[in-house]
Amino acid sequence: MYFVHDAAANGPKLRFFAIAIVDQYSRACVRLAVETSIPAAAQVIRELETANLEYGKPSPCALIPIAAAPDASQLTSATVRPRKRSAAICSGCHQPAPGYDQSPTPRRFEFIGFWGYLVFLVYCMRRVNCEQCGVLVEEVPWGMGKHSSTKVHMHFLGHWARKLSWKETAEEFRTSWDKVHDAVAYLVTWGLAHRVLGQIRAIGVDEIQRGKGHKYLTLVYQIDLCCTRLLWIGKERTVKTFREFFTMIGPEVSAKIEFVCSDMWKPYLGVIREKCSQALNILDRFHIVAKV
Ligand SMILES: [Zn+2]
Repeated sequence: MYFVHDAAANGPKLRFFAIAIVDQYSRACVRLAVETSIPAAAQVIRELETANLEYGKPSPCALIPIAAAPDASQLTSATVRPRKRSAAICSGCHQPAPGYDQSPTPRRFEFIGFWGYLVFLVYCMRRVNCEQCGVLVEEVPWGMGKHSSTKVHMHFLGHWARKLSWKETAEEFRTSWDKVHDAVAYLVTWGLAHRVLGQIRAIGVDEIQRGKGHKYLTLVYQIDLCCTRLLWIGKERTVKTFREFFTMIGPEVSAKIEFVCSDMWKPYLGVIREKCSQALNILDRFHIVAKV
């Protein structure tokens, strides 16, 4: 991400913001500029365009917002619009496909905030009429499915959620607990798809309360001496939930687990007996917390 700022150098009304964002996976570039009245603005935009070209082919979505951050609201919206005649990408098969229509209602994607401003990309999603998949919403390089955060924002939150509690992360970066949860879940899913499980000797299972009321999530950690990591997140804290974890790792990995830390929650105890009968069940939730 490039960020150029030349604020109030010649008086409070002369402000200029420019941002260029390069999607780190696809190398596609989403360019943004937000300007007011500085004469050098055009030059800065030209420089950013040059920087963009270094990344190869331009993104199907070019930039364009001209919506300055108002001083007081602390919120910046950057409107993105599709490049003319660009083909949208089908979210089913990830191939370019003929256009179908475009939603009149814009969607907001939260981006990493800067200098106290919350930053949103605003975009009217297109639909494609794909030969293989039918009519589907397009895939955009910065977002994923129905997530209201950009991918880069989810990585950012997920990174901080390893250092701070989820609640602290949400407060620190002015977002919601649910968004932090979504970010961590996204990263875990991403991690699952890209990792080798290897041998797991010890796991810890813990539940956390989600929002207000009696809604819970089940978290499973690997707590080996050489490797502590979050392995899995499931909704609720039921027998069914915890069984899904063992389905995910498979019987071979389950059979080699030697230690399971848990609290006294009965559904967990039952599943441990069922799926991991060879393991020693240590009933000590603080042990888990201390290890993580
Ligand atoms: Zn398709």
